[in-house]
Amino acid sequence: MLLNSITRLNVPGPEARAFIARDHRVISPSYGREHPFVMSHGKGCYVWDVDGNRYLDFVAGIAVNATGHCHPRVVQAIQEQAEQFIHISSDFYHQRWIELSERLSQIAPFAEPARVFLANSGTEAVEAAIKLASYHTGRSRFIGFIGGFHGRTLGALGFTASKTVQRAGFMPAPAVTHIPYPNPYRPVLQPMPGDRDYGETVVNYLEQVIFQNLVPPEEVAAVLVEPIQGEGGYIVPPDGFFPRLRELCDRHGILLIVDEVQSGMGRTGEWWAIQHWGVEPDIVCSAKGIASGVPLGAVIAREHIMTWPAGAHSNTYGGNPLACAAALATLDVLAEEGLENARLQGAYLLERLRKMADRHPHLGDVRGKGLMVGVELVVDRDSRRPAVALRNRVKKLAFEHGLLVIGCGVSSIRFCPPLIVSRQEVDEALQIFEHALTLAEEEQE
Ligand code: PMP
Repeated sequence: MLLNSITRLNVPGPEARAFIARDHRVISPSYGREHPFVMSHGKGCYVWDVDGNRYLDFVAGIAVNATGHCHPRVVQAIQEQAEQFIHISSDFYHQRWIELSERLSQIAPFAEPARVFLANSGTEAVEAAIKLASYHTGRSRFIGFIGGFHGRTLGALGFTASKTVQRAGFMPAPAVTHIPYPNPYRPVLQPMPGDRDYGETVVNYLEQVIFQNLVPPEEVAAVLVEPIQGEGGYIVPPDGFFPRLRELCDRHGILLIVDEVQSGMGRTGEWWAIQHWGVEPDIVCSAKGIASGVPLGAVIAREHIMTWPAGAHSNTYGGNPLACAAALATLDVLAEEGLENARLQGAYLLERLRKMADRHPHLGDVRGKGLMVGVELVVDRDSRRPAVALRNRVKKLAFEHGLLVIGCGVSSIRFCPPLIVSRQEVDEALQIFEHALTLAEEEQE
């Protein structure tokens, strides 16, 4: 497709406008809608709105539709399960729940045998992990990261620190001390002598400033961290970060919880993003891509840690059979084609965006792993000042030309398409994105 053949859609159309007006009358205003897109249906990496406009979906439900929209194997698995039974109380057993937990324990990113707890969302997985860490250690303090996102229920909210609106007016419960995330593009800490990279600087700050002056390490149950920060801006930490963090945690009996809700389940080309650094965590939180969009969250913990007694933590929908069936089919598709494709297309996407940055100086930073890729828009490369208005305009123009992308961080745009995305679809997305960027830059002049 040639650049000049990219056409501008008439969005939102009349049908969409009517639905949006009804939505605004009845649905909680706490949802922030990024685009006036009212979905009709989807197939693979494409979605259609109620007016018949087609879009390339590089949001994928925010890294949820890992197998694309309506993958036939996922649809079939859900249909077959729905005809057998849709729900059974967690007081009883069922096959799919057991099979899924076995599969998740096989791909756990640590050598020790794993135990699995199933929930309905990423937030609930985080809540369970927080409780499990304090149960196991008998400690009640935690370390979290600025820019981190872990959910908005009170326990998880204690850790979430990616936008003040998420916390303003609420009282987060757990005692969490937040430290800077190792963002190599925007370092806020001074390196200490001997630091090999900024990741080590952050861990040294935790050890030498926080643990010396503020938080006794023997009272800390866990460090909760995203291996690649998601809502905070698709930030990849420097290589020294996780090995040093693991070492510090081990020294003080502190658990390392990785929130892989956005980065896990093959998105970065490994089952878990933490595997890029060869570090074994104690507890993993998963959700989003795990069941291709059927609500499901999981906590995968080392066997010696998940020892809480019957009744200590449970729920009504844990192990929901439809979600388990969808997750088992998702795991099959990802193992057969998704992981490898995420590696291949992700490397291609990253390389093409880096080349694009040579032509567009507002693309201040391009980063990511696999199909978790972000670009940060800046006013100019020297000052690195975030170009928020430009980012918003690019997003909107991309939408109007048929590409769904959303923001993250202060002035970044994220690309998290289905893991089955093709080379042609990546090319098409890049073409629309560059077209939108060019238009937005021209408007500024
Ligand atoms: N953790 C991370 C890293 C996330 O990105 C999110 C969702 N954006 C959550 C937790 C919360 O997950 P959910 O919305 O499924 O509750």
